[in-house]
This record gives sequence, structure tokens and C-alpha cells, in this order.
Amino acid sequence: MTDQPTPERRKKLYIETVGCQMNLLDSELVVAKMRNEGYELTDDLNQADAIFYNTCSVRQHAEDKIYSALGRIKRIKERKPEVTIGVLGCMAQKDQDTIFRRAPHVDIVVGPGQLAKVPELVEKARAESVHQIAVSRARTDGSIDSIAASFENYDADREPSMRPSPFQAFIRVMMGCDKFCTYCIVPSVRGPEQSRPPGVILAEARLLADQGVKEITLLGQTVNSYQHRQPDGRSSRLSDLLDQIHDIAGIERIKFITNFPNDMTDDLLQAVHDLPKVSRYIHVPAQSGCDQVLKRMKRMYTTAFYEEMLARTRATIPDVAVSSDFIVGFCGENEASFQRTVDLVERSRFKNSFIFKYSPREGTKADSLYPDDVPESVKKRRNKELLAAQTAICLEDHQKMIGRTVEVLVEGQSRSTARREGWHGISQMVGRTNCDRIVVFEANERLIGQFVQVRVEDASAVTLFGRVEIAERIATPA
Ligand code: SAM
Ligand code: SF4
Repeated sequence: MTDQPTPERRKKLYIETVGCQMNLLDSELVVAKMRNEGYELTDDLNQADAIFYNTCSVRQHAEDKIYSALGRIKRIKERKPEVTIGVLGCMAQKDQDTIFRRAPHVDIVVGPGQLAKVPELVEKARAESVHQIAVSRARTDGSIDSIAASFENYDADREPSMRPSPFQAFIRVMMGCDKFCTYCIVPSVRGPEQSRPPGVILAEARLLADQGVKEITLLGQTVNSYQHRQPDGRSSRLSDLLDQIHDIAGIERIKFITNFPNDMTDDLLQAVHDLPKVSRYIHVPAQSGCDQVLKRMKRMYTTAFYEEMLARTRATIPDVAVSSDFIVGFCGENEASFQRTVDLVERSRFKNSFIFKYSPREGTKADSLYPDDVPESVKKRRNKELLAAQTAICLEDHQKMIGRTVEVLVEGQSRSTARREGWHGISQMVGRTNCDRIVVFEANERLIGQFVQVRVEDASAVTLFGRVEIAERIATPA
């Protein structure tokens, strides 16, 4: 009997992602790179040869979560010193060496503009047993071009297993942000605003369509500020990108997040109206309903301007669903200013709002200029009150949809435990309407990735519940 070669054990990567869609996409690209190096994914920390945390620094809470996770895995490193531990993303760029001081068992620290170097740094950390760090330049550290170059991203290595589902994917159209809202850390950790060339974005969209992707979400911190100047002097805007991606066979739904109120131009609204594959859904954060607070936040618009933009949006796209973000308890926000925010939410009838308690971020203008003078208990109460105002609107608007038929892209099995009376709980599926409303219904799993017509029979503030009518596409925004 001849000796069989023992198959080499494939190295395993454990990765946890905190934060926004941009981070999910970054993790997809990192995993693709690591796969090229022979790694496969594991969700068992104890099996991993490399443990990565792709981090967020928008609020303190997100950072605290990572430092406690690092504390928990210290034992693994003590037991298996050969495991490589990496802190990637925004917190890596913000805290840099501090991470090694607070958690010396971390091996590599890599900012969001340096992720292409991850495999090389893993190898170096292993070979040299020395901390490895790769971060981009600070916003004041050199010329704008050199800073921007230090945040440049790498090729579109893609990894289908890291996507929300096999037929949904993100494409980054812009990097960084130049708005410098006073509360926000993003411009310093993600660098200067840079729009990627349209040709590169279209090539990525075609590649994704070839891989079976049907729904593409274009990502940018202020995605509607997208502007790329061509060598011939012409400019490409987000509306041009939507138009071109719309022509790609196989792509059936296109979304874009997040929008900045001042850059909601008529050509973009018209494109959303004219292009049936584009979701009639616009996420455009207001942040506050009080002009004094907006001024301190340096949002560069007033409530009146925001509401005019909203009216223009709804006049151009009558069925549009709009969602928003709000920060409660920002420096100097008193009861009267908070009430103005509640009033704005009640007037605007958003599809939903993401509500956050202000979290001071070191290095931001607000942190150095204004005291964090709203007590935590008040922030909590305002958060609850604003959420209650928004929830009442969601419920009212959802109940009006009972009896209507909506078109849904089936995303997968519902994780929700919510059960309606008379349902037997077999294969509860979840999907979203063209306006990004969540719908739960019973259906066969083979419908995942398909468009179905669902008749709405019941509703909560978050979810519509319904019954599948026919499994074929008609265009009715909902
Ligand atoms: N670029 C997007 C925009 O301008 O709308 C959003 C970026 S940020 C990652 C997402 C949301 O986090 C913001 O819209 C804001 O509501 C919230 N946020 C940002 N900084 C914050 C802070 N220091 N404290 C609490 N919430 C914050
Ligand atoms: Fe942050 Fe404002 Fe830029 Fe959004 S627009 S990423 S909130 S600085």
C-alpha cells in the first residue's frame, strides 16, 4: 500500500464586522484577499488561524464592543500564540498604536484605506513576531492629493459568501467625506471625498451581474455628491451612473445610500422617477429639526430647506419612501429644540428613522468646541420619545397598506419570531418592496432571489405580513 499525501489543512479566518454597509463591503474585500492566500472562513473562534475585527468608530459604544471582544479572546492568544489577531477599519485608523497599548495581543492594526495590505501584514507579523500597523495619513498630514492617495482602495476582489445574499451586493462609488459635520469622525477615519471612475464602477456592476447578482446598492457617505470629471472635461453624476447600470442585463434593482440633503439635485430625482429598476427609496438624514442645532452640527441647511427638498422629492417621485437619521442630545439641544425635531418627524412621515444618542468623538469639532451638556438619562428619554413618534407613523402608514398587493424581492428565510395567527410557521420568508419596506410571507424556498406579488394582510410598525399571489414581476412601487 502506498502512502497517501495528507491533505494540507486549510487555514481558517474568523471575521466579525461592526458598523455600516461600507464595513460589510470592506470585509467582503478582505475575505476575498485572504481566500487568495488559502484561507477559508470559520465561525468558530477556537478553530481560527486569524481573527479579524472590522471596526466602527462612529459612536463610543461600537468601540467599547471591540475592546471587550479583544479582552475575551486574550486567552485564545495565550493558548495559541500563532493565531494572528487583527483590528481593521475605522477604529484602527482612529486609535492606531493605542490599540496595541490597550490590547498587546493584537498583531495587526489596519486602517480602512490600507486593507489591501492585510495578507502581507499577517505574514510579516507571523514571521517577525512584531506588531504591524498600516494606516492612512491624517487629514492635515500633507497635500490633499497625498492624503487622498493614502486612502486609495484596491481592486474589486469580490467574495460572494460575504454578501447579504447571493443576489445582493454593494458597490462603493465614493470613498471618504468632505462635509465635516462637527459631531462626525468619518472624514478623519475615511479620508477625503473621492469619486471612483464610472468605468470601474460599471465593470464591477457587470461582474456582479455575471455572478448572479440582481440587486446592487451603491454606497457613499454622501452618495448623491458623486461627481467624476472625465479626462475630456465632462462630469459624470450619480444620475448618469444609475442610467448606465440600469442597462446592465441581470441587474433588476438598484439602490443608493446615503444622501446629503443639499445635493439632492433634480436630475437625480428625475432618474429615480424614470428608471424602473431604481428603488423608489431615498435615505436622506435630517439629523435635527432645530436650526440652531443644525448650525452647531454644521449641516449647512435649515429645516425649511430640508422640508423644501422633501417636497420636491415627493413631487417628482410621488410614491417615494424617505427615511432619515437623527441625533438626539447633541450639545446645547434643549427641550424646545428637541420638540422641533419631534415636530419635523411628525410632519415628514418618514418610512423609518435611525435614531442615535449623541456620542462625543475625540478629534471632532463638536468635541473641542461644545460641552456634551445633555445628561445620558435625557438622551435616553429623547431617543425613546422620538422613536415612539416615528413608530406611530410607521404603524399608521403600514396599516393603510393592508389589502394592497406589493412587489417583493424574496431575500431569504425570515429570522423574525413574529408569527401571525393562523400561520403554521413553515418557511416564513422575508423580502423588501421597491420602497424598501420589509415583508414577511409564507413561500417556497425556491423563490429566494425572485420577485413575487404579495397581498398585504396584516402590518406592524416594522413589517408587512402577506400572502404570495403570483410569482411574476409587475411594476407597482410600494
Ligand atoms: N454619511 C452619512 C450621512 O451624512 O448621513 C452617515 C454616516 S454616519 C456613519 C451614520 C449616522 O451616524 C449619521 O447619519 C448620524 O446620525 C450618526 N452619527 C454620526 N456621528 C455620530 C455621533 N458622534 N454620535 C451619534 N451619532 C452619530
Ligand atoms: Fe459624517 Fe456628515 Fe460626512 Fe455624513 S456627511 S459622513 S455625518 S461628516
